[in-house]
Amino acid sequence: MAKKDYYEVLGISKNASKDEIKKAYKELAKKYHPDVTKDNNTEEKFKEISEAYAVLSDDKKRVQYDHFGHEAFDQRFTQEDIFRDFDFDIFRNSDFGDFDNIFDVFFGRNRAKRKGIDLRYDLELSFEEAAFGCKKKIEIPKHEICDECLGSGAYKNKFENCKSCKGTGQVRSVSRSFFGMVTQIYSCQDCNGKGKIIKEKCKICNGKGLIKKTKTLEVNIPAGINNGNQIRLENEGELSEDNNYGDLYIIPHILPHKSFTREDYDIYIEVPLKFSTAVLGGSLEVPTLNGKASLKTPPGTQSHTIFRLKGEGIKKLNGYGHGDEYVQVIIQVPKDLSKKQKELLKELEKNL
Ligand SMILES: [Zn+2]
Ligand SMILES: [Zn+2]
Repeated sequence: MAKKDYYEVLGISKNASKDEIKKAYKELAKKYHPDVTKDNNTEEKFKEISEAYAVLSDDKKRVQYDHFGHEAFDQRFTQEDIFRDFDFDIFRNSDFGDFDNIFDVFFGRNRAKRKGIDLRYDLELSFEEAAFGCKKKIEIPKHEICDECLGSGAYKNKFENCKSCKGTGQVRSVSRSFFGMVTQIYSCQDCNGKGKIIKEKCKICNGKGLIKKTKTLEVNIPAGINNGNQIRLENEGELSEDNNYGDLYIIPHILPHKSFTREDYDIYIEVPLKFSTAVLGGSLEVPTLNGKASLKTPPGTQSHTIFRLKGEGIKKLNGYGHGDEYVQVIIQVPKDLSKKQKELLKELEKNL
């Protein structure tokens, strides 16, 4: 999408004076500042007017913009170039948020806010730990801010001005072009645009500002968690060079139970049923997650019949209620009968 003309954006004429530009921007900024209104569109709009102001309030950029036109100007300057010399004084003594806030709005999360890498931790859980929930201590090897230099990477926090850019953070190159002399401004590579370099590296982190540590975390495992779920722990991932943490993902691996199998929140179990109870009906003691339950079987129950124990399954994750328990009865055919028992059965068989 083509960008709108900067003069149009601020609603001013091509001949507008510096004061007129400033006045127009201030008026619009009051209206669209994201701290003032929460509407999503206003953030875009605020970015747009700020960009227009950043260019038109800077004499050199304005000349180049007028000269090259919008498209060519855009190709020559990155967003960072455009905002580099932004006149923040305009917000001083105003009721707007601080400058960092405004900068975040301009550059989104990309500027100096790179997130650290997300980490993954595979965690084995017993069937019961997953069903009932638990607390688990885990150890995460990761980078943390160096205690010695507090992340600056500099021994005793001593910095000196970068010699390449004389502390400005920028280098300029002037080249001749069809239009005349073109000045390009780059971020200084020696100091990453900061203007300062470390005088002597921190001995602990060797100038990185980060050190490898092992962090112990206590993780709350919610009842009902299953394979395929994951727990996200915000800001417990790796630290980026911009001092921004990634996230940590706990991936559960649930071990099988010796008697139960699980499907979502329901559990399944097979229990033996006496031949005589199957025929005559009766009551059967069956294991549940919480202990035992009594199951009534009607007379003439067939083998492999499934009974449902409502609500005896697993607690639903982030929800209400429980799954069910399904009990499959397997009729045990008696072996090694006594002579008397065999005779009785034969007697019975005649009448069936
Ligand atoms: Zn350090
Ligand atoms: Zn430099």
